[in-house]
Amino acid sequence: MVNALTVDVEEYFCYAYPGDALSRDEWGELESRVVPHTLETLKILETHKIRATFFVLGWVVERDPFLLREIRDRGHEIGSHGYAHELVCNQSPQQFRDDVARSVDVIADVTGEMPMGYRAPSFSINGESVWALDVLAEFGFTYDASICPVRMRHYGAPGVPVEPHKLDNGMWEFPAATMRIGALHLPFGGGGYLRLYPFLVTRWATHRLNAEGRPAMIYLHPWELDPNPPVRPHSRLHRFQHTVNLAKTRSRLLHLCAEFEFAAIGDVLTQLEAERDNNVAFAAAK
Ligand SMILES: [Zn+2]
Repeated sequence: MVNALTVDVEEYFCYAYPGDALSRDEWGELESRVVPHTLETLKILETHKIRATFFVLGWVVERDPFLLREIRDRGHEIGSHGYAHELVCNQSPQQFRDDVARSVDVIADVTGEMPMGYRAPSFSINGESVWALDVLAEFGFTYDASICPVRMRHYGAPGVPVEPHKLDNGMWEFPAATMRIGALHLPFGGGGYLRLYPFLVTRWATHRLNAEGRPAMIYLHPWELDPNPPVRPHSRLHRFQHTVNLAKTRSRLLHLCAEFEFAAIGDVLTQLEAERDNNVAFAAAK
């Protein structure tokens, strides 16, 4: 089973916790650290011969266009993480359309191509903002990877299928990986969860998903390889979410890369589509 490995390319200060976010004026004043940590991520993937999906933030690409060139030149798939890291559920459809358009333009200026997929900041396409999926289809994205199919404190769209599935508008949706333990249904695919849970849990949950015939989507941010970010969220809870076990991210990523098979989201979906077509042809031949 091939899993999807994804990287959201943003700075350590681009957090969007409700009531605890920095303004873009403040972003411009802060020390940039995205380049070395993204290059380090690229090196780890190169060592393990893994092609991943990089969802790049338009604001970062505008400041460091060579970073996107590096990612593209090393053969990785490019996706959009929006331009300004605004939560989708806080935007009107027109504001969202403008943000996506700006990110697509910035990316296409560097690569000459439309990004293939979209990842919303903080998985913020929830039950109230699913209209965003039709806006993304208008742009011609092949897939979206912005939905957590479990209700969490600030995000989540319970009721959405937990496996990759085709939407009515023709796009694929590849939801965040989740696990069931008794009555509990929890995300585990990356970010804070990859750092918070004991690694044995991530390992067990990924094996279990694969044994059920489902690929897991793992995600991380280059800033999670930085154990000492110079700026942290003010609220104690957000600070915990943002910084817990940062020193463990690198070794956990290395273990995942060594133990599981990974590819870019587009490659995983191509494989799923071929399997689905084979099953349909097999059923028709019976
Ligand atoms: Zn983000």
